[in-house]
Amino acid sequence: MAVDVSIAIIGAGVVGLAIAAELAQQENGVFVLEKNQTFGLETSSRNSEVIHAGIYYPEGSLKARFCIEGNPLLYEFCQRYGVEHRRLGKIIVATDDSEVSQLGQLYELGRRNGLEDLRLISREEVKQLEPNVEALAAILSPSTGILDSHSLMRALYGLARERGADFVFQTEVVGIRKSGTGHEVEIRDREGTSSVHAGVVINSAGLNSDRVAALAAIDIAQAGYRLHYCKGEYFSLGSPGGPPVSRLVYPLPEHAGKGIHVSLTLDGRVRLGPSARYVEENDYSVDESQRGAFYESVRRFLPALRLEDLEPEMAGIRPKLQGPEDDFRDFVIAHEEARGLPGLINLIGIESPGLTGSIAIGRYVAAMVRELLH
Ligand SMILES: Cc1cc2nc3c(=O)[nH]c(=O)nc-3n(C[C@H](O)[C@H](O)[C@H](O)COP(=O)(O)OP(=O)(O)OC[C@H]3O[C@@H](n4cnc5c(N)ncnc54)[C@H](O)[C@@H]3O)c2cc1C
Repeated sequence: MAVDVSIAIIGAGVVGLAIAAELAQQENGVFVLEKNQTFGLETSSRNSEVIHAGIYYPEGSLKARFCIEGNPLLYEFCQRYGVEHRRLGKIIVATDDSEVSQLGQLYELGRRNGLEDLRLISREEVKQLEPNVEALAAILSPSTGILDSHSLMRALYGLARERGADFVFQTEVVGIRKSGTGHEVEIRDREGTSSVHAGVVINSAGLNSDRVAALAAIDIAQAGYRLHYCKGEYFSLGSPGGPPVSRLVYPLPEHAGKGIHVSLTLDGRVRLGPSARYVEENDYSVDESQRGAFYESVRRFLPALRLEDLEPEMAGIRPKLQGPEDDFRDFVIAHEEARGLPGLINLIGIESPGLTGSIAIGRYVAAMVRELLH
């Protein structure tokens, strides 16, 4: 006989955890199914750990909304639950004349998105803030920061459990079938396959979220849910004399990513990346032959950089709805009633700024569920 739960959340990355913590506050019977041995072992622990401000995203998009709402919510959460973080600010630099006008457009977009603290700064101001950085002009974003994503997830996990959510690890969802007023979720663990009956199913399966939607018999090609994997690699920068910058330094964004930037970790390490390369496989190795390309890219604004100081560090994979030839695609957060699947909520394409937006997304999805159940 199937176990009966009120709400099944598939995936214990930062987004699934935030949804669980928020929902468990108001609902009983929240059950989180995670295929790995613990939470947060995929994209949520393989990213830049930046609390973004919300400059880049088209006005009115969910990415803009959750980033802008999520930024202060995340700072507040970190403060309240002792998650290590630092609001160190960032600059986005223009290194030649053609980039200066693009920088102006980006600044305008950020302002239209409601970021009143953004400032356009001159070459001299850049030099005052960051003596090692060479740029013709820059955008200064004071509300950008960094955080410890593991400690954020630990806090969310603790909170969700304290509020009564149950977590089942090493349990993979392998089927979803509409059944009565809910869904029969087929799971596979070390003991074999069994099932859970859930009134509401929330697909927060990150890189697998398109495949999980397909398990519920959604035609993902037709729905526009098929994911493209876009790999981001990082090199660490050995800096014996201390970090060459005191805040994050970004170039102008590229088609698929924000450009190889210089970021700092809370323990004082310096990181270059991530690159953006579409791949077929989910493979986390770092291609050492990229060292020269990273060096050339960052040297444009950090001329004292030395090739020999770059060491391969780690990689993450973006679950992108936007393919190599496509324009901007937004997050999908959809209650699938119109597809004949009431009670199924899909979250697909939750790439950056998913970490920044996690608390805001958790609240949004919890409100959707509240409406469904009451
Ligand atoms: C290179 C890179 C840099 C980034 N930098 C930033 C940044 O600086 N700031 C920012 O805001 N965002 C950033 N992001 C985005 C951010 O990391 C993601 O948006 C966020 O981590 C997504 O969380 P998630 O919970 O949706 O996915 P995940 O962390 O991938 O979690 C999904 C979970 O679902 C589980 N799962 C999958 N299939 C099944 C199944 N069938 N059954 C059971 N469990 C399943 C997986 O095991 C996994 O644990 C970056 C992403 C990348 C790749």
